[in-house]
Amino acid sequence: MSQPRGPLSQLRRGHEELVLGLLRKHGPLSRGELGKRCGLSRTTLYDILAELVAGGAVVTASSQEAPRGRGRPAETLTLNPDAGQAIGIDFARRALHVAAVNLAHEVVGSASEPHDADLPWEQRVELAARLVGSLTGTGAGTLRLGALDAVGVGVVGVVGAQAAEEDRSAPHPVQVLLRERFGVPVLLDNNTRLAALGEAIWGAAAGGQDVLYLRLSHGVGGGLVVGGSLHRGAYGLSGEFGHITVEPGGAPCDCGGTGCLETVASIRAVLDAFRAAGGRAADVPELVKAVRAGDQAALTLLSGVGARIGEVLAALCNAIGPSVIVIGGELAETGAALVEPIERALHDHVMPVSRHRVSLRRATLGEVAGALGGIALVLHESPLLSRYPGGPDLAEDPIPDKESR
Ligand SMILES: [Zn+2]
Repeated sequence: MSQPRGPLSQLRRGHEELVLGLLRKHGPLSRGELGKRCGLSRTTLYDILAELVAGGAVVTASSQEAPRGRGRPAETLTLNPDAGQAIGIDFARRALHVAAVNLAHEVVGSASEPHDADLPWEQRVELAARLVGSLTGTGAGTLRLGALDAVGVGVVGVVGAQAAEEDRSAPHPVQVLLRERFGVPVLLDNNTRLAALGEAIWGAAAGGQDVLYLRLSHGVGGGLVVGGSLHRGAYGLSGEFGHITVEPGGAPCDCGGTGCLETVASIRAVLDAFRAAGGRAADVPELVKAVRAGDQAALTLLSGVGARIGEVLAALCNAIGPSVIVIGGELAETGAALVEPIERALHDHVMPVSRHRVSLRRATLGEVAGALGGIALVLHESPLLSRYPGGPDLAEDPIPDKESR
């Protein structure tokens, strides 16, 4: 369905979308019922249907309720539950998360795999393709990609500055590699902002119009929904909450600054501080175990970290006025030991008038939130995206040669 787009193919694409939209809305329909609803000529409709069936987007089934007196049972057409329409991929720092939706916009599956932080892009894309291959449609077949519209991708770091200030002939390497692999446009955005989008559409803040999302992971970042719109900010810089200074002159940060929230509240920062306090934990699950066992060093540490996070959130609340704050990322798995001190500091530092008007919640979509946000970016149906750019798209043709990567 993603062929080069001349006027004729665009018209054809429009007809396909019309038919797919009717099947999405009404469920299985016969050719006659589709004809009545779509307004296309019989020849055009049958032509479009033949292509959709051949491409695997639509499947036929014999109806049990065949009208009497006819020689053969009426055949109905339905969306193929195994046909993927959009793929979302979150290229996080040390893990990869994928999810896909079919043409009915049902999530057909998701998968995740950890990897080393320095894994090259080629291998990350290989891994992504393998994980996508492991997803299967609700028909329990293999996910078919003939109907794929686009891939929505989240990456670490600032996305948007390139689109605004540089020419589009220099796409992100992952866009080039994914375009080669899947043959469809690749939309790119910051992975944490996509996680915020996922939580604001389907997760802890579903329906929220003013949402602040904070992810406590290997990096610390977030995303904002302001007045019912996902906020990108000038140069795509919105949501970099991890680089707000909490300790002037403190530890150096990856961003080039010092004393950022990330130097206190990232996974590495917390585990290092726990070990420095005599604790033993190689990773977050071990830290969670220590917390559950009532380890005093762990509880004291998280109390201090939570206080810093809560102070930052209070300042952000006073500036932005969210009604919902969502805390996500692996460190949120430590539960009340971290969330309660966050809540206390938020309460103590936010303007008193806001205290009982902002709701602090744990994220609900888990590690796949960013991949789901990538899907939302592709479908571009959420009202939260009505004023949001579709993301810097990779030119359709030609695929840039190796020198320009
Ligand atoms: Zn920083």
